[in-house]
Amino acid sequence: MMNKGQLIVFSGPSGVGKGTVLKEFLQGRENVALSISATTRQPRPGEENGVHYYFLTKEEFLKKVEEGNMLEYAQYNQNYYGTPKDKVDEALAQGKDIVLEIEVQGALLVKEKCPNALLVFVAPPSWEELRDRLVGRGTEDAATIENRLNIARGELKQAVHYDYILVNDTVEAAAQRLEHIIEAGRCRNIEMKDFIEEVEHHA
Ligand code: ADP
Ligand code: 5GP
Repeated sequence: MMNKGQLIVFSGPSGVGKGTVLKEFLQGRENVALSISATTRQPRPGEENGVHYYFLTKEEFLKKVEEGNMLEYAQYNQNYYGTPKDKVDEALAQGKDIVLEIEVQGALLVKEKCPNALLVFVAPPSWEELRDRLVGRGTEDAATIENRLNIARGELKQAVHYDYILVNDTVEAAAQRLEHIIEAGRCRNIEMKDFIEEVEHHA
């Protein structure tokens, strides 16, 4: 049975710990790629172009959209964010899983375009903990934090559209549960359709 790559969408409120859990999960895993998004937001201290994001001007970003090079894109807190299509296609063609760490509007667009995508929503253990993590990260000013928390209220309402909810209680436990979710994702009916048809073909 051929092992097809899964398109994994990983979303959740800003500051919930998506990046931290993914970093832990991806350690030593060669068969899972992480998509590098494009964005028009300014780099944070320590963020590198081509590593954390492709940092583009608004004009450069919209040109890529026009040329059909984005699998999805969305506006978030007055900036554009999008998933370059080429790396996703490449990973899937090689039978590799690929994770897109993207916000909810983009996630739902991916689900429309790619019904096999596995959607995982990362939730905080509590609202207070989400606020503490966002403040504790220290990368945004107070107004930006309030904006992100406001966006988070809307994002939580969209969690119902996801296949799985992953509560990020501790990083290690969440990373382990993500592994189980991905494993379960491979057993979904939609993923196993060809296999069942092949068995039936010889029946
Ligand atoms: P996101 O990528 O979702 O915006 P980050 O990965 O940047 O979030 O995490 C936000 C902050 O929360 C960081 O300071 C990180 O160290 C912390 N953090 C992440 N996961 C946990 C956890 N399980 N318990 C406590 N703190 C966490
Ligand atoms: P941040 O500015 O904290 O890096 O990201 C803000 C939000 O944009 C996060 O929810 C993050 O997951 C999301 N995001 C990052 N890349 C993409 C992308 O390519 N597409 C979409 N739709 N959202 C993205």
